[in-house]
Amino acid sequence: MKLTEFTLIEARNALRRGETNSVALTEAILEQIVVQDNDIKSYLTITAEQAVKAAQTADQKRANGEDLPLLGIPVAVKDIICTRGVPTTAGSKILEGFVPPYNAFVVDKLEAAGAIIVGKTNTDEFAMGSSTENSAYVTTANPWDLSRVPGGSSGGSAAAVAANMAFGALGTDTGGSVRQPASFCGLVGLRPTYGRVSRWGVIAFASSLDQVGTFGRTVADCTAMFEVVAGYDRRDSTSLNIPVPDYSAALTGDIKGLRVGVPAEFFIEGIQAEVETAVHAAIVKLEDLGAEIIPISLPHTRYALPAYYIIAPAEASTNLARYDGIRYGPRLVAEDMIASVKKTRSLFGSEVKRRIMLGTYALSAGYYDEYYGRALKVRSLIKRDFLQAFEKVDVIACPTSPTTAFKIGERADDPLSMYLADIFTLSVNLSASCGVSVPCGLDSKGLPIGLQLIGNTLDEATILNAAFAYEQATNWRVNINE
Ligand code: GLN
Repeated sequence: MKLTEFTLIEARNALRRGETNSVALTEAILEQIVVQDNDIKSYLTITAEQAVKAAQTADQKRANGEDLPLLGIPVAVKDIICTRGVPTTAGSKILEGFVPPYNAFVVDKLEAAGAIIVGKTNTDEFAMGSSTENSAYVTTANPWDLSRVPGGSSGGSAAAVAANMAFGALGTDTGGSVRQPASFCGLVGLRPTYGRVSRWGVIAFASSLDQVGTFGRTVADCTAMFEVVAGYDRRDSTSLNIPVPDYSAALTGDIKGLRVGVPAEFFIEGIQAEVETAVHAAIVKLEDLGAEIIPISLPHTRYALPAYYIIAPAEASTNLARYDGIRYGPRLVAEDMIASVKKTRSLFGSEVKRRIMLGTYALSAGYYDEYYGRALKVRSLIKRDFLQAFEKVDVIACPTSPTTAFKIGERADDPLSMYLADIFTLSVNLSASCGVSVPCGLDSKGLPIGLQLIGNTLDEATILNAAFAYEQATNWRVNINE
């Protein structure tokens, strides 16, 4: 087996046993990037030199008897997360050339855990999208089929991990952007509870929904990444000041007596038949493993998409007001200040402009109550649905996305059909619960299907363990190079 084909945990074991070292792992990953990334295009920036240096330091530390959770392991970071001295674009021309003078909290955490950051991965512009086609730079291809999208917006991170160009990666999930690409690329992707991971240094899209999530080839890999970045940070006022449990220790594989809710509203018309079949089979598997299956109802599910597409653009329109060419990024100069700001802001891509217009409209005097106010009320109802469901069940099982990976270009001109890719993930963000996507099969074209397991607020341990139990009992993790 090639070094790059190790799971993160296997790589860590090999390092601990002295069977390899971090420089060898890092060079193997960089070589894999050279071989694969011309076609896949998962990285916007590759920090090869820095990575090799950091790997040398990691090897030195190990030689001195030190050990850390990710010591010497090459990982990737979505390009919406600030990295000191390394360009961070959020997939946008309006941040072209922006080099943050500081690290995001999660990047500091990765580095403190000994991880080697090999590069910054492609994203839809400001994380608005489900395919990476809204990136101002490149479209990432799905490693399973290069004519298809990897999902998005964290599609670069997902493709990099799936094609063995990193052992794990960070993404962000505002409406589904970790779980949906994980599902499309045959990976495990976690969206933690809002507040579990600090947003400090994460370029804001929709502040009440944004959260950093992690990708892994296995549940244990995804968990190892997650437990390193979770935790309190006083610089994010929404960060939760509560201890981080030992999530890896929670992966016992025992789900006897686990109450699994199956919401009728998530098996709707328009869902790809093979996805529905695979997810139902996965639920039967959970039952075989000792779980109790309980039909539930989340009656306000159908309002999640419309509510999200008011709330997220409203927050985006205010967050994106800061890009005026004066404080960050490129400045396009015209006859006066207003004209210069206008010209600079024309650097936004069309999806971002659409969201700014939608959001500005929804927040404008006269429409605020009718749109934004109403969407907030719907959000409360969705939250209540989940609270009530979690009185009866421990976990909710449903598809991650209604389809498998679609073709590049297929939905690019139809925003609504693009928005529908996240129909099953959005409610998690609106309700402050957490969710994980785990591979549960392949469709007739050989494309991965994802099972979504949703958990109550701060109950990541339970969904990760359920995903782990399922993963251990099945064998959907296929090595892409086989
Ligand atoms: N696809 C959704 C959107 O475009 C979610 C994106 C995300 O989670 N960042 O808003």
